[in-house]
Amino acid sequence: MVITTLLFDMDSTLVDIDEIHFSKTYFKLLHECHFSDFDLGYFCDSLTEITRSVMLSKLPKEFTLDTFVREMSKKYKRKQKHLFKDLLHFYNNDYDTLNPYVRPMEGVKKMLEHCFNEGYVVVVATTPVFPEVAIRKRLKWGGLEDFDFKLVTHAGNMHFSKPREEYYQEVLEKIGGKLNECIMVGNEYMSDIVAPTRMGMKTFYCPLPTVNDDLFVSPELKRFSKIRPTYRGTINDFAKLIADGLSK
Ligand SMILES: [Mg+2]
Repeated sequence: MVITTLLFDMDSTLVDIDEIHFSKTYFKLLHECHFSDFDLGYFCDSLTEITRSVMLSKLPKEFTLDTFVREMSKKYKRKQKHLFKDLLHFYNNDYDTLNPYVRPMEGVKKMLEHCFNEGYVVVVATTPVFPEVAIRKRLKWGGLEDFDFKLVTHAGNMHFSKPREEYYQEVLEKIGGKLNECIMVGNEYMSDIVAPTRMGMKTFYCPLPTVNDDLFVSPELKRFSKIRPTYRGTINDFAKLIADGLSK
C-alpha cells in the first residue's frame, strides 16, 4: 500500500528537547507562578497523577484540556474559569523561560521540506495534554513554525491522548486518512509504537541513542514484546527512507 501520510511525534523526534531539565523547570515554574500555596513535592506528584489520568481517560465528548482543568479544579479546589485564565497566562508568558531546553533536531527541517515537496500529508502527533500555544512554542523553538502541517494535536482539539488507540483513530478521522496509508514515527515505544502497530499502521521507532536498548527488561513492557515496529533507526535513517521513496 502506498504511504501518503506521515505522523510524527514531536518531543525528541522532531525537536531536540532536554526532557529532564525541561520537566523539572516546568513544574517549578508553574508552581512558583500559580500554585505556591501548595508544597512543591505535592504539586509535582499530583499534577503528574492528573496528567496520567487525562492521558488514559475515555471521554469522547470532552477535549483533554477540559478534562485536565476539571481534574485540577477538584484537586486544588479552584474554580475552572480561574484555572483556565491562569494557565493561559502562564503558557503565553512564563512558559518562554523553557525555551533554552528546546532546540532544532539535526536534519529534521531538511527532511520535512523534502516530505512536503514530495506531497506527503504531514501531521504532528504529539501527546495532547498541553494547550495549542504551548505546542506551537515548542515547534517554533525547534525551528519548525513555518511548516503547513495538516494537523497539530493539542489539548484543545483532541478528545483522546496517546497511548490510546482512540487517539490514533481520532487523528485519522480529523485528517480523513486511511490506516494503511499512514506511518507513525516516534521515539517512545509505548506512546508512539504500540497502539498504531496493533491497529495495523506502519511504524518507525527512533529511540534516542541514550535509551536503554533492552526495551523489554521491565515487566510492564514485557507483555508488549511481540509488538514490533515496521522500521527502526534514527530520525536521519527515516529521512533516507523518505529520500529513497517510501511510497514508490
Ligand atoms: Mg517523544
